[in-house]
Amino acid sequence: MGLPEILDRGLLDLLLPRDCAVTGEPLDEGIRAHLSPQGAMRLMRIHDPRCLRCGHPYEGLLEGEMECPHCRGLRPAFGRAVCAFRACGAARRLIHRMKYSGAPWLAEDLAAAALEDEAFRRHLAGSTLVPVPLYAARAAERGYDQALEVAAALARRAPGCALRRLLRRTEDTPTQTRLGRKERRRNVADAFLAAGRPDPGARHVVIDDVLTTGATLSACARTLRRAGARLVDAAALAHG
Ligand SMILES: [Zn+2]
Repeated sequence: MGLPEILDRGLLDLLLPRDCAVTGEPLDEGIRAHLSPQGAMRLMRIHDPRCLRCGHPYEGLLEGEMECPHCRGLRPAFGRAVCAFRACGAARRLIHRMKYSGAPWLAEDLAAAALEDEAFRRHLAGSTLVPVPLYAARAAERGYDQALEVAAALARRAPGCALRRLLRRTEDTPTQTRLGRKERRRNVADAFLAAGRPDPGARHVVIDDVLTTGATLSACARTLRRAGARLVDAAALAHG
């Protein structure tokens, strides 16, 4: 799908019958433009108990430094991350489509579905949302920056939230998908710069589409702290 089609999406939505992006069934009028209630139910939600650091479902006893096996050794610069969905099945397919197949318009429905979870909604409420930035040349090539689309959609819907683009990516880091935990951390450690002054009195929540090891969100949180932010948390649509 090319840029003209992305730009025309709003017009297409008015002219053509829409199908649910998950089930493929025709959509009636509803609260979401491309995701039916049945489709939204196929997104696997994360419920408590979850890791108090990275937000991954965790049944074990969380004590001491509260590290689940997923975020062991990360020592994230963010206080707490909360994710709405597991990054598998329908949620993974939708996020991939939003990110790689020219479908930024899916960010609206994914954000709306994520905010139906009370824990996710509470985690964001009243905060300054800061998207993890894509490298500028990559965003230009793609025609959009998916984390910015997600953060903007969340900021419009979550109570008392503001969107601030306080970070800039200084390196076009190689894709992380084939890297292990340590390599991911090294890969993104110095990839960000502050692009504005954080308000020291605000709570900032760094937003990404997917949290995998937490290394990217942690590098962003560290950059914000060094720039003067005091309270920095993180959130992603999905964990996996
Ligand atoms: Zn964890």
